[in-house]
Amino acid sequence: MGGITTDIKLIDEKGLRLDGRRPDELRPLKIEAGVLRRADGSAYVEWGENKVLAAVYGPRECHPRHRQNPARAIVQCNYNMASFSVSDRKRPGPDRRSQEISKIISEALEHVVFTHLFPRTSIDVYIEVLQANAGTRCAGLTAASVALADAGVPMKDLIASCAAGKVADTIILDLRKEEDNFGQADVPLGIVPRTGEIVLLQMDGDLTVEEFNTALTMATDACYRIYETQKDALRQKYCVSKDDIAGDIEEAAENIEESKKENELEQQDDVPDDQEGGQ
Ligand code: ADP
Repeated sequence: MGGITTDIKLIDEKGLRLDGRRPDELRPLKIEAGVLRRADGSAYVEWGENKVLAAVYGPRECHPRHRQNPARAIVQCNYNMASFSVSDRKRPGPDRRSQEISKIISEALEHVVFTHLFPRTSIDVYIEVLQANAGTRCAGLTAASVALADAGVPMKDLIASCAAGKVADTIILDLRKEEDNFGQADVPLGIVPRTGEIVLLQMDGDLTVEEFNTALTMATDACYRIYETQKDALRQKYCVSKDDIAGDIEEAAENIEESKKENELEQQDDVPDDQEGGQ
């Protein structure tokens, strides 16, 4: 970022990018909620060539105990990039980058979770990057908030996240790897769509104030689109159509009919003898 030069043409004569996208276009995004059986909540995100899994456990007793907060829950995020997630095998285990990303995602999530409801507990969020192509912190945060909702953790809203940046003097949305490596700036953003609060904002590279504002507006607009996909994923898992429960409705109707008949028979049996057959 910022300084590494390349012969690759990041924006062509038509103003299109390496993968044919317009500057303000997102990569294709797919989100699925509740993909893991053993976790309390989970989500899977495919975003361009990024593949990210998020799993949530808790609220549960906080370990190590000295990290417990008597007034509220803590959100502990663990972001990990699999060795096979990038073309050169990544050295397994935590490094400075994964610690930084885990920290910023924990802090962002603590803004939306009603932590005061669960004193002394921990809400553990695991983010596993299975395939990476830049923007994994945004994909991880987007997945994590859907996984938290899937776990039934009370929150004021989801968090939607997306980066904008600058390549070949053009402000662009949702940078892929080459744009991240050889571009001039990268600005990952995370917002709480219902309130418009910013819960994640970083910047790598150089932008003028005007360029920064354009990038921020572009990323914010994208976050609202991502928010719709997040809500769709949750609806997909939790909404039932009338057709899905047609069998149950029929059974319930039969039960009602049966108990109605039983009631009628009981009422007939209850009629006193002197009232039977008229007077
Ligand atoms: P983000 O994934 O949030 O954009 P970075 O800007 O730090 O975070 O990384 C950009 C991309 O660089 C990653 O998505 C990944 O494709 C690649 N990358 C990061 N760390 C490594 C690494 N240790 N080895 C190989 N590629 C890496």
